Amino acid sequence: MTHPPRICRHCDEQIKHPQDEALVASEPCNSVGARLIYAHVEHVTLLKPHLTPLSILCRLLVGHSSQAPEPRPDIVETR
Ligand SMILES: [Zn+2]
Repeated sequence: MTHPPRICRHCDEQIKHPQDEALVASEPCNSVGARLIYAHVEHVTLLKPHLTPLSILCRLLVGHSSQAPEPRPDIVETR
């Protein structure tokens, strides 16, 4: 069984030699479950993180930090 040509995530060129490829990530995919992402070895350090997961994480952190803290049962306010 042959695999489809591997494309570098950084330069979008086909990776022709197996010794020049590096597995850098996997992405969810409906057809096969996960798609493996490759890059040329010399381009691995030039890749930038995907912004969608970072955006979701930032929204979660902002939403979590803006929530009022729950009252602690061991602290009694005296006014
Ligand atoms: Zn490349």
